[in-house]
Amino acid sequence: MQQRILLVDDKSANLVALESLLCDLSVDLLTATSGEEALKTLLQFDVSLVLLDVQMPDMDGFEVAELIRARRKTRHIPIIFVTAINEDQSYIFKGYESGGIDFLQKPIEPIVLISKVKLFMEIDRQKKMLEHSLREVDQLKTSNELLLKSVGEGILGVDALGLVTFANPAAEMVLGYEPGGMEGTSLGNKILVSTTGFEHFEWSKSKIYKYCSKGRKYQTEVGAFKTSLDNIIPVEYTATPVSSKENEFSGVVLIFKDITERRKIEAQLNYMAQYDSLTGLGNRNLFNVTIQHAVSRSDYTEKTFALLFIDLDRFKQVNDSLGHEAGDQLLKEATERMKNCVRDADVVCRLGGDEFTIVIQGFNILEVAERISDKIIDSLSGSFEILGHQVYIGASIGIVYYPEMAKDAIDLIKKADTAMYRAKREGRNCYQVFHIGMEKELEEAVDTESKLRESVKKMDFFLHYQPQIRMTDNATTGVEVLLRWAPDGEMIPPDKFIPIAEETDMIEQIGEWVIEEACKSIKSWEERFNLPDDFTISVNVSVKQFKDDGIINFLNKTVTEIGIASSRLELEITESLLMDHTERNIKRLCDIHDLGIGIALDDFGTGYSSMSYLTKIPLNVLKIDRSFIENMDSIEGNAIVQAIVALAKGLSLKVVAEGVETEKQMLSLTDMLCDYFQGYYFSKPLPKEEFESLLESKLGRKGLRSTPMGGKI
Ligand code: C2E
Ligand code: CA
Ligand code: CA
Repeated sequence: MQQRILLVDDKSANLVALESLLCDLSVDLLTATSGEEALKTLLQFDVSLVLLDVQMPDMDGFEVAELIRARRKTRHIPIIFVTAINEDQSYIFKGYESGGIDFLQKPIEPIVLISKVKLFMEIDRQKKMLEHSLREVDQLKTSNELLLKSVGEGILGVDALGLVTFANPAAEMVLGYEPGGMEGTSLGNKILVSTTGFEHFEWSKSKIYKYCSKGRKYQTEVGAFKTSLDNIIPVEYTATPVSSKENEFSGVVLIFKDITERRKIEAQLNYMAQYDSLTGLGNRNLFNVTIQHAVSRSDYTEKTFALLFIDLDRFKQVNDSLGHEAGDQLLKEATERMKNCVRDADVVCRLGGDEFTIVIQGFNILEVAERISDKIIDSLSGSFEILGHQVYIGASIGIVYYPEMAKDAIDLIKKADTAMYRAKREGRNCYQVFHIGMEKELEEAVDTESKLRESVKKMDFFLHYQPQIRMTDNATTGVEVLLRWAPDGEMIPPDKFIPIAEETDMIEQIGEWVIEEACKSIKSWEERFNLPDDFTISVNVSVKQFKDDGIINFLNKTVTEIGIASSRLELEITESLLMDHTERNIKRLCDIHDLGIGIALDDFGTGYSSMSYLTKIPLNVLKIDRSFIENMDSIEGNAIVQAIVALAKGLSLKVVAEGVETEKQMLSLTDMLCDYFQGYYFSKPLPKEEFESLLESKLGRKGLRSTPMGGKI
């Protein structure tokens, strides 16, 4: 602490003498030789004591003292007059009146001087310390007040009776009180919300009281407070007990935070975690919760509930060809349609992609589940208008019932999936109720797939050949090649393995092999037999083989390399080829047709219902599906075949009747002027050697004379 003494005397010698007496004290000594200079110095420095000579020329000591006292800044500085001995009492009084505190008489007695100065210095030091402490207290007070006012948390002081004694502005704002308006409010009655209702809540029964009155802190993240308008807000708070000197419970300091916003965010996060943002349906998480609840409820009530597992048919194609935006749009619309098929209580979820689930509870569940499935299939079969395109999808649905068919939630989902898969295999756009056999089928399918993979590596397949017969002269004018597979020596029918080969894209490789084999066969027959120029070989091709332009190049290359006329080859396509990427596929068909290769529409009448495409695709042949031939016995069945034949003739297409099994069928078809026949009545599909001997007998070996017309084989 810096202390200064100002020595004032008009005689420098006196000043020097004083300085030498006081130099041992650790204080700064300032000097002035006139009253005026003294006053200036005092304004400039913070001085603890003035030793003031009384007798000075211009302005005497008393006058200087009065001026010192007159100024606020210097008023409290103690002044000791230094004067020659003067017995006059009035003189002394004048000194005191002008503000002096003490007198020192010249000649100065050093001990008296030093002890007096020391005393004043000590008083000054203590005063300074006191001032400093006061300033500190003052600062602390202001900063504490500032703190209480500016913290975001609400702070309430509450006394032992539960009455508010203090509330900071944040507390008042959150709880909706005027400044100062909370004092005296009862925490229990007005602010705390009890779990048993909040009309009247006793302070002494509150958890805060119970904890704090025993000197313990109480803290909760799930509290609720009532505002002045009786709104309930979620809060988290800490109540800290306050105790008096005697360690008696004297109240509580409650620090709380309004967590409404946080709750909103939590709710939002929770929603996001459970709902699909695209469709607004529950997502996999909500589905899991729902299914668990349904299982528990069913275990308790012993009531059956149903799980529907829905997979959209052909969604992927739409998504791939029209883009994700269209895909999203389609999912949204499909969702709306599905929602219209169910009741409010049925929970529809989207598991991801184009997979949906519905949990159906209630009465008559077996009937309701099937009815809802029918409705969904029906409503999703209608056309969708997506970004200016008309698209068609469908739905395959698996149904499973709990507890009849599954033992728990996981089992349920697995079985619903199996049933859905079965619906897909059944030709899609249908529902299937789970049964035990399906799991075996699924296992078999998995088994078939892995065997198929092995066979594809070595191309371990072979072909059967079924002749096509011309109606007018019974001549063998063509042949359809049919794929055969016997992985363990036992033949597996194409209907079993071709769908799997298509799903796994193995069909592309197999399909190319079939085309090559067919072309090689006909090449060798040309060399060996008297093959008529219009003799054709028909190959079945799958939609999957039309994925890209590769097929066009492949056909061109194969025909050229093997060295056959492209008109010898005919591709059998199905109507499914025209359901997606219609334009693109028609273009590819045109390109193939331009190569000179024939196109036959297989299984006609079983698929796509629109006829308009018939004029758009470059067709040569229409093949009437076996199912129509089968039904020719009935008048209607007969009429349908007749109509198809007429249609084909009208479009100048060759018409082939498939699956002709009886003479009666053959004769009816002859009456209708159907051009060509194919079927067991003439021949089953034959192994290569057998078919070749048939050809030999019909056409004769090259170089040898042939029988002009073949009879019935
Ligand atoms: P599809 O193209 O309709 O072939 C005709 C099917 O009818 C053949 O069955 C044939 O054996 C059978 N069939 C012929 N005449 C008669 C008859 O009088 N009565 C009866 N009940 N059936 C007859 P398959 O060989 O089992 O082939 C089934 C299907 O597998 C074929 O139907 C075709 O869609 C497909 N497929 C066969 N080979 C291939 C192939 O190389 N590639 C592709 N993508 N599919 C093929
Ligand atoms: Ca065919
Ligand atoms: Ca067919």
